[in-house]
Amino acid sequence: MSLFEVLQAVPAAFVLVCLFLGLIVGSFLNVVIYRLPKMMERGWQQQCAELRGEELQEQTAYNLMVPRSACPNCKHAISAWENIPVVSYLILGGKCKGCGTHISLRYPLVEACTGLLSAYAAWHFGFGAVAVGAILLIWALLTLSAIDFDTQLLPDDITLPLLWLGLIFNASGVFTSLPNAVFGAVLGYMVLWLVYWLFKLVTGKEGMGYGDFKLLAALGAWLGWQMLPLIIMLSSLVGAIVGITLMLALRRGRNVPIPFGPYLAGGGLIALFWGDALTSAYLRLMAV
Ligand SMILES: [Zn+2]
Repeated sequence: MSLFEVLQAVPAAFVLVCLFLGLIVGSFLNVVIYRLPKMMERGWQQQCAELRGEELQEQTAYNLMVPRSACPNCKHAISAWENIPVVSYLILGGKCKGCGTHISLRYPLVEACTGLLSAYAAWHFGFGAVAVGAILLIWALLTLSAIDFDTQLLPDDITLPLLWLGLIFNASGVFTSLPNAVFGAVLGYMVLWLVYWLFKLVTGKEGMGYGDFKLLAALGAWLGWQMLPLIIMLSSLVGAIVGITLMLALRRGRNVPIPFGPYLAGGGLIALFWGDALTSAYLRLMAV
C-alpha cells in the first residue's frame, strides 16, 4: 500500500499526519506573524523615501527566510532542536538557552492551535480535497488573526491570495458551487464596505479597515454567499461580548480600536465546520 492509500484507508493516520504537519507549519506561521508586518513597514518606508526623492540606502536582507531566527535579547541563534514545535518550549522551560530571557507563550500556543485545528479538520472532513482546503484556510485565518491582533493590519499579501485560492477550490465545487463563491466574494466585500461608509457618515469615525472587507470577501469565496449572514452575526456577537468585557474589565475607552479581523476569522471557522448545521437549525426554528 502506498502512503496515499494508507491515509485514505486509516482515518487515525490521516489525523496524526495533519497534527504533525500543523505543528511544523505553526512554527513557520510564528515567523510570518512576526516578520510580515515588519517587512511591510520597511517597504512603506522605502516607498516614502523614493517619493521624497531621497537616496535609497542599502538595506540588509529581511524576509521570511533571512536572517535566521535568533533571540531578540542576546541574538543567540536558534538551533534546530530548539525549534521543535511546543516540545522545545517545554524542555527549555520557556526561557532562552543563551540568556534565560522569558520566551513568549504565544509561540507554543500558535503551534499547538495550528496542530490541533489541522487535526480536527482532518477528523471532521476525512481524507480528501475538503480537508486539504479547510486546513489551508485555517492556517491563513490563524496568521491573519494574530497579525491583526498585534498591528491592526490584515496584509493584502494574505487576504488576496486567500480569496483566489477559495475561488480555485470552488472551481471544482469543493465547498460550494463556483457561482455561490463568486457572489460570496463580491457580497462579502460590499456588505462591510456599506457598513463602513454608513458608520462613517453617521458618526464621522472609521469602524473598521479595508482589510476586513477583503477578509470577509475571502471567506465568501471559500464558503459561498449563503454563509455570510452567519459569519457576520457570529463575529459581531463575539466582538460585542469581548469588546464590552474589555471596556468593563480594563476600563478601556470606547475609542480604543479593537481589531475586527480575529472575530471575522473565528466566525469563518465556525461557519466552515458547523455552518450547514447551524443554518438548517436556524431555518427549522424559524419555520415553527
Ligand atoms: Zn537570549
